[in-house]
Amino acid sequence: MAIDEIDGVKMVKPTHLSPTQVEGLRAQLIAERSEVDEPIEDPTEDADLADDPGTRLSERQAFEEMAARQTAVVEAIDHAIKRIDLGVYGTCEDCGVEIPFERLEAVPDAVLCINCQAKATG
Ligand SMILES: [Zn+2]
Repeated sequence: MAIDEIDGVKMVKPTHLSPTQVEGLRAQLIAERSEVDEPIEDPTEDADLADDPGTRLSERQAFEEMAARQTAVVEAIDHAIKRIDLGVYGTCEDCGVEIPFERLEAVPDAVLCINCQAKATG
């Protein structure tokens, strides 16, 4: 996933979204971002050294997975906001088709149309 590679991104201007709709979705993204972007506590930080090392390891792994998921969500949101700033939000990053407002309303950080999303996730 090359979130920062703007060069590889199709710069198609959407014509199907009104500025009001785009600003509404931007507000949704910002709200979502502040909700997600809470610090996660590392459970192993103040772990008792007498704890079973296996337990510590799996706790650590669970924490890292959670942190990675959180980072991915925040990055996806930032990426969508960046596309709003660029004026290309609402079009598929892969094939350039317009993403229906209903889909963006449900998934404001969507940057792919349903077809390309299905291809990307297999
Ligand atoms: Zn597409």
